[in-house]
Amino acid sequence: MNKLLLQFFALMMTVSASLTAQTNDFYDDAPTNPLKGSKKIIVTGEVAKEMTIDLNKLPLHSIMVKETTLTDSAVSFIGAYRYDGYSLYDILDKIVLKKKNEAEFPPIIDLYVEVTNEAGESVTFSWGEIYYPVNRHRILIATSVARIVPSKSKDLWPLPQQTRVVAGNDLITARNISNPVRITVRSLDSKYEIKKNMSPMFSEAMRICVNGKQRSSLTELPQTGGEMTYRTVFYGRGMGIHGTTPFTGIMLSDLLSGYYTLSPEVLQKGIAVIAGVDGYRAAFTLSELVNRNDQEEMLVIDRKDEQGSGRFSIFPAADFFSDRAIKSVMEINLLLPVGGSKWAIVVHGGAGTISRDRMSPETETEYRSMIKAMTDTGAAILARGGTALDAVERTIRLMEDSPMFNAGKGAVFTHEGRNELDAAIMDGSDLSAGAVAGVTDIRNPISAARKVMEASPHVMLYGKGASEFAATQGLEIVDPSYFYTERRYQDLQRALEDEKHGTVGCVALDMNGDLAAGTSTGGMTNKRYNRIGDTPVIGAGNYANNATCAVSATGHGEFFIRYTVGHDISALMEYKGLTVDSASRLVVKEKLVRAGGTGGVIALDCAGNISMPFNTEGMYRGYRTSGGDAGVYIFSDEPDRLLH
Ligand code: ASP
Repeated sequence: MNKLLLQFFALMMTVSASLTAQTNDFYDDAPTNPLKGSKKIIVTGEVAKEMTIDLNKLPLHSIMVKETTLTDSAVSFIGAYRYDGYSLYDILDKIVLKKKNEAEFPPIIDLYVEVTNEAGESVTFSWGEIYYPVNRHRILIATSVARIVPSKSKDLWPLPQQTRVVAGNDLITARNISNPVRITVRSLDSKYEIKKNMSPMFSEAMRICVNGKQRSSLTELPQTGGEMTYRTVFYGRGMGIHGTTPFTGIMLSDLLSGYYTLSPEVLQKGIAVIAGVDGYRAAFTLSELVNRNDQEEMLVIDRKDEQGSGRFSIFPAADFFSDRAIKSVMEINLLLPVGGSKWAIVVHGGAGTISRDRMSPETETEYRSMIKAMTDTGAAILARGGTALDAVERTIRLMEDSPMFNAGKGAVFTHEGRNELDAAIMDGSDLSAGAVAGVTDIRNPISAARKVMEASPHVMLYGKGASEFAATQGLEIVDPSYFYTERRYQDLQRALEDEKHGTVGCVALDMNGDLAAGTSTGGMTNKRYNRIGDTPVIGAGNYANNATCAVSATGHGEFFIRYTVGHDISALMEYKGLTVDSASRLVVKEKLVRAGGTGGVIALDCAGNISMPFNTEGMYRGYRTSGGDAGVYIFSDEPDRLLH
């Protein structure tokens, strides 16, 4: 017996010796370092009484995070850490809420908090993100940190020095600001009428808005290719179990990707308000929807086959309680900081017999750099928060001043050897429009068109009257000989046998969600009898409507007028629910081709989808977007769309 006991002790000692020699510290925690900063936090806002919370009195939690940063829309790694600190959940547990809209909407799911630091920076978390997760206590105010050092490479990641907010579920680290000192509790300002016990509860379409402005209205979910099924338990905080049926849908993050520009600020402050037809609404942060490192993606479910349950619903997979599940979704409204909205600009410089074997490499390079310069000009205006109308007008002015395009300076000649110019501009936000036709002495017809829109009660002015009006508006009037270019004159001599065309156009989406379209042309070489083409005819060569798209056309104008090309594309979207790309293709590649109308269009919708189809050999075209996408193309074997 004694011997056995001795043997047992001997064995135990070897085991413990080997454990000390080689520990099982799987995460290779390095020493823990205290962070400098206040250990107190003020909680204010929609609370019964402002309170200062002493963090040391709360339980300590630990989370591990891999931090990254966003540089030029690419994600780069910073380091891996373990943070110890105090959970926002525990901090806010100490206060009594006083929600300002309590009487009208008692649920707490429309609350969010702003965490502000000493420097005045702030980041946002939804109440749901703090209170509802399956895995709680993932958002901390950290007061100490340890590096997680890789066992072989032994990389020593930069060590934070100050207390900081740590958002444990974020993929791109944008919300981890230093020295947090204050938490402000707020509720959404968005107003939706509460309709209790609606039956049947049905919302046919789901609006997607940015800062309250509609960007699209969906009757179908887009084919994102990201459908998934969650086997889960649907359990509410009040009523408990609702069901155990699986949920199948697409990722909400995919649906939203076209509506914001990724930046640290957008991830820090962006909020999504999701509301059902009955006025039930919840607050989500953009970060929890599109910036997760735990793959607990929220789903959008299409219930078209389920009687009376409403078309679209949201399933918040990351939440333990299903309170933020929204049925019959009527609207998703993204509240984004300035600069967070998308913008896009697309230009064209005419379509026609443009092919590689007919163009010298020098000319090709010249056209490409010109188109790039045009898109850059418009992009700079939009990126500063300028309007789509300004971007369109200024970009087209530049193209008009260049002798390379058939508009303004480079306008083609009529049969009689003159230059007669047409231009139009349209504002998609209110369908206001202006056009000039057959003008011979206005240096920048696009600006004259804008003046007609803004400073006259009319839509279209032509000839001498248009010039008189432009002069009263202070626009530059030039001698008709200004438009003489030897190249175009030679074109005329050739075109006396063979007709040619070309035009410039621009469509833009600004950060406010407004669309605009502009088009300017010298018309068709060798045109006669004061012929007017499609360009100044609203709905033919130029059209813009925020509810659908902005279109600028180039091609054989008579066909574009007869087929009301611009408006037809818009109508196919409005009445038939086609996407901007399907609608543009249908009109340009099928209808016009059947009719014998050569040319192309550039078209852009409010979500920044770009379509540039043409049925000729080539079309000068280019675009730039807030997401960093850019392209300059000429030939038919190059891209003709950019879709999200
Ligand atoms: N559409 C213009 C017109 O017919 C010419 C062109 O775009 O080429 O006047």
